Amino acid sequence: MHEIRPFIAGDWRDGATQSVIRDKYTDQPVTSVQEPDARLTEAALRELADAQARSTWDAYSRFTVLARASELLAGRRDDFIQMIMTDTGFTRADASREVDRAVQTLLLCGEEAKRLAGDMVPMQGAPGGGGRLAFTVFRPLGVVCAITPFNSPLNTVVHKVGPALAAGNAVALKPASQTPVTAAGLVRLLLEAGLPSALISLLPGSGATVGQWLLDSPVPAGYAFTGSNPVGENVRRAAGLRRAQLELGSISSTIICADADLDRCVPLCANAAFRKAGQVCTSVQRLYVHQRIADQVQARLAAYLQDKKAGDPAARDTFIGPLISPADAVRVEEWISAAADGGATVVSGGVRSGNVVAPTLLAGVSADMEVMRSEIFGPVVMIRPFTDLRTAIADVNDTPYGLAAGIFTGSLADALTAAQELRMGSVHINETSSSRVDLMPYTGVKASGIGREGPHYAIREMSEECLITIGRP
Ligand code: NAP
Repeated sequence: MHEIRPFIAGDWRDGATQSVIRDKYTDQPVTSVQEPDARLTEAALRELADAQARSTWDAYSRFTVLARASELLAGRRDDFIQMIMTDTGFTRADASREVDRAVQTLLLCGEEAKRLAGDMVPMQGAPGGGGRLAFTVFRPLGVVCAITPFNSPLNTVVHKVGPALAAGNAVALKPASQTPVTAAGLVRLLLEAGLPSALISLLPGSGATVGQWLLDSPVPAGYAFTGSNPVGENVRRAAGLRRAQLELGSISSTIICADADLDRCVPLCANAAFRKAGQVCTSVQRLYVHQRIADQVQARLAAYLQDKKAGDPAARDTFIGPLISPADAVRVEEWISAAADGGATVVSGGVRSGNVVAPTLLAGVSADMEVMRSEIFGPVVMIRPFTDLRTAIADVNDTPYGLAAGIFTGSLADALTAAQELRMGSVHINETSSSRVDLMPYTGVKASGIGREGPHYAIREMSEECLITIGRP
């Protein structure tokens, strides 16, 4: 596999230091990364700012490039599936879904480039306003710096880079240090689709070095970040008065009411708990099930998991592959053991082999256990029986986060109660917390973030709106 190198001012460059990317299942080296130093990182940002200031790249051309990139990605589906599998250790099914979504996200970003329009202001509605016209226009910010997480190495990157380019910005991209292969593939694809090469830089490397230099620089006019809360807070501090779109952590829950259609909701919940080995911000970590059906749901989930294989993600019948690092696999195992030691029942799974943790179902957990109090980001789901919906909702809300929640119910009254009382960025009725299509507005409340993803919304986050008024000469 090609070595990953920085892309700066239209060229693939040598870096200053080298790191190694390892296969997440076998731990064997798969490629190396040339990382820029502080001087090269700052030079890349300044080159981007100059190029963006001189750019005449118009909205229709942005649409054609992003739409062409979407088309190219669909044609290279298998190559990108392979890159994602190499980067992350995801199964083929998980990697395929990510590519298919990114095809749509690129297209949506292109379409938004054509549609980005401001508002007419009804000036004649103000005393003395007659005879004046007023409207707003959107302009690019300048350089947008995208810093992205490991768990969605293509689609989340597209959700940052796509709207930023659609708005007419230049983009500095720092992918997660564990997953730069797919990001480099995306940059090559965008260039092939006709993106002016001076408007993008790939700056692969560690968050502690390259990421921090990007935050220390005065050049970016905005940051588009997805990742953990400690790093998000760091981005917020560094951004100061500049824009910062922050999509952060979560402990996500889904509620199953007594009248839910179990044939439909149990497989949906299992998929939402275990896809990408549970490394999804909206994964179902806590599953609140009405007491009357709790045993039944537990038995159905256990039966669903019975023949699911955990192991080599390249094998066709693997349901769950490895976690992103040995340290994460050990951490998840330790949290499960601590829950079991504290009295929880391990209904399924609970074992680790190398970086692979078997899909795990825990019952009898208590609220003070780590598995309940912290984002697990692993293939573990807790069943929590409830009798009163409002108490379950209060429990779901009782985390620092507020990203997304789901509820399965046939009752309109219960659905409305959940919609009104769950304090989340998204509430999905008759879907899991992990339900998402890429045109949705996507945001967290409380500690789950600031600013909105979803191309229609993100393009506005990555633009500045200017009011123009015209009076009689
Ligand atoms: P992370 O450790 O916060 O890393 C995210 C990015 O920040 C990586 O590129 C990382 O580089 C970089 N970074 C680390 N330290 C930095 C610093 N000092 N300055 C600048 N950049 C720095 O997150 P992750 O482990 O990749 O992803 C998991 C987290 O993301 C979970 O909490 C999950 O909930 C959250 N997430 C949220 C959403 C959402 O939409 N709300 C979606 C997906 C994931 P390195 O890779 O080198 O560390």
